[in-house]
Amino acid sequence: AAGTGARRVDTLCPYCGVGCRIRVAVEGETIVAVEGAMGPANEGRLCVKGRFGWDYAHSPERLTRPLIRKPGAPKDPAAIRRGLDWREVFREASWDEALDLAAAGFLRLRAQHGPQTLAGFGSAKGTNEEAYLFQKLVRTGFGTHNVDHCTRLCHASSVAALLEGLGSGAVSNPVRDVAHADFILVIGANPASNHPVAATWIKNAVARGARLVVADPRHTDLALHAWRELRFKPDTDLALLNALLHVIVTEGLVNESFVRARTEGYEALVEHLRDYSPERMAPLCGIAADTLREVARAYASAQAAMIFWGMGITQHVHGTDNVRCLIALAALTGHIGRPGTGLHPLRGQNNVQGASDAGLIPMMLPNYQRVADPEVRDWFSRFWGVPLSDVPGLTVVEILNAALAAEADPQRIRGMLIMGENPAMSDPDLAHARAALARLEHLVVQDAFLTETAWLADVVLPASTWFEKTGTATNTDRTVQLGRQVRTPPGEARADLWILQRVAERLGLQWDYEKKSNTAPDDAGYYGVERIYEEMRQTMAAAIGGISWARLEQEGSVTYPCVSADDPGQPVVFRERFPTPSGRLKLVPAALSPAAERPDADYPYVLITGRQLEHWHTGAMTRRSAVLDALEPGPTASLCGADMAALGLVPGERVSVRSRRGEIQLPVRQDDGTPRGAVFIPFAYVEAAANLLTNPALDPLGKIPEVKYCAVQLSRV
Ligand code: SF4
Repeated sequence: AAGTGARRVDTLCPYCGVGCRIRVAVEGETIVAVEGAMGPANEGRLCVKGRFGWDYAHSPERLTRPLIRKPGAPKDPAAIRRGLDWREVFREASWDEALDLAAAGFLRLRAQHGPQTLAGFGSAKGTNEEAYLFQKLVRTGFGTHNVDHCTRLCHASSVAALLEGLGSGAVSNPVRDVAHADFILVIGANPASNHPVAATWIKNAVARGARLVVADPRHTDLALHAWRELRFKPDTDLALLNALLHVIVTEGLVNESFVRARTEGYEALVEHLRDYSPERMAPLCGIAADTLREVARAYASAQAAMIFWGMGITQHVHGTDNVRCLIALAALTGHIGRPGTGLHPLRGQNNVQGASDAGLIPMMLPNYQRVADPEVRDWFSRFWGVPLSDVPGLTVVEILNAALAAEADPQRIRGMLIMGENPAMSDPDLAHARAALARLEHLVVQDAFLTETAWLADVVLPASTWFEKTGTATNTDRTVQLGRQVRTPPGEARADLWILQRVAERLGLQWDYEKKSNTAPDDAGYYGVERIYEEMRQTMAAAIGGISWARLEQEGSVTYPCVSADDPGQPVVFRERFPTPSGRLKLVPAALSPAAERPDADYPYVLITGRQLEHWHTGAMTRRSAVLDALEPGPTASLCGADMAALGLVPGERVSVRSRRGEIQLPVRQDDGTPRGAVFIPFAYVEAAANLLTNPALDPLGKIPEVKYCAVQLSRV
């Protein structure tokens, strides 16, 4: 408990995209407690991660000095394990030595092989200012658009479909709009584990009388509150969604005035839907035709209906098609553009929305301005004072593929800067991803810990945790919030903004963010954050033009679009038009398309990967948080009782899970919420890394890999 001498600092939870505001009690430099604060997304509520997942900041495993790989020390992916010790392959160095070496490697590769042989992975767990500065560094300092982050692995397909259909990649309505909804569809998401405070608002809506439909192959805790649970067969989401659309069209449930006035492409969609009757789709998806009709009627006839979704439907080769269907559902029924309606892709990380908005994606400059547009490139070239490349950038998976290209390939990626991202755990087909990282001629990682990715680096720069920085983050609701520094980084660890600026100056960039600002101190850990934010705001005027730093200091949070100082912000968008060229929502039919790798006689089970309530992403933070690690101390493979009996397994026994790409062994857990023929494995555990097994096949439009579905074989160890 916090002592009476503790300071209390308000900041943001470092974990999920809900964006809960927290109040941190800190004595000296030691955090002693966290409680919920009155932020717009949580009103004092917190989940177990926000409440107890803060002590990773104090972990004895924190990096406190720059590290340089010892001469001849091998980059050995096979040596990756839990409890990596930097002393095995690195030596400590001064900041000057490490930064000089880091920058010199990039300069050498750029001079010898050209800028397209360099790349950067930024982070969705940092601030907007870090994301903005990182992509600016890669585009202007490296000279390439090869810059991406984990959105490629979560909602890239959502963004592709939303930009195509609605002209905007963000949510239409905030989570708390469920208070105005009388029907809620949650599909391919497990908010009770992954967005727990959002789940509480949904449960409150159900208690008030809203009908909740939860559609997911796995049973999730939120389904306990559902009016109907649709446990469709894995990989049959398109059959289910097309059947719902078919019912709406054929039973006269279309909101014709909305469709006529505000959409385009209706006739082609109707033609496409002829083949998707519930009676034809029911055997495919495993949901009775009557239930499909009942759910479609209830959605269409609701006064206000919201749709939430997550990675269960996005991390597929047809992820973009799934989201096209959700857009069509909302459009055909007019459930968009009003309170309590709309489309809400639940954002995973605390700043994945903001990092994407800030341009941390290869094909988009800040505020989704297209790199391919020469006028956009010219504007940014002038604004930043550096001519931008006209070569399209590569995405996360493409970058690692290019790192394994032939030696003479001029497109081979040879050097990378990675900030707060852990592709050696999060990417699909990890043996391939780790080999790609190990093959790089120059890898610089800035992180708070010696992650599995940092283990393969040439230079490791000790960085800050969320509690050690001031800056903004944008949550799943499009709300820009200000987080404040709670403590100073330990030892010689430094703020990420400081590190980026030290690298930039060594690359020859003339940045002056740290010069004294008029309205905020630029010492005490600010590192020019206000000036960086204000520069970013100039590049994103159509979204955050009305959200000045001073306003955030005063109000704490403002929701965009907010275009002027007296604009209160717009939580609900698309009220009158869509930001598409025609102003109309574009309906796009989506035909059935199977997963890239289906079960067969050799690999008869389906692997579903995901997260647990207690562990976050690759576990870099939560596995170093004592309470969270105690709650879920090790990896498990969840199987239903029938499959366990068929395999002769009892709970706790070890099972081998093998795909065409790798094998892991881990204890089995009985979970009858896992569908027959499938195994669920969380991807946070390095000792049984689920992504060693996953399939890197990509959605052609969103370029998202199919980490939610691949074929595996199971056997007792
Ligand atoms: Fe943090 Fe998300 Fe939990 Fe809120 S719901 S406390 S943002 S992890």
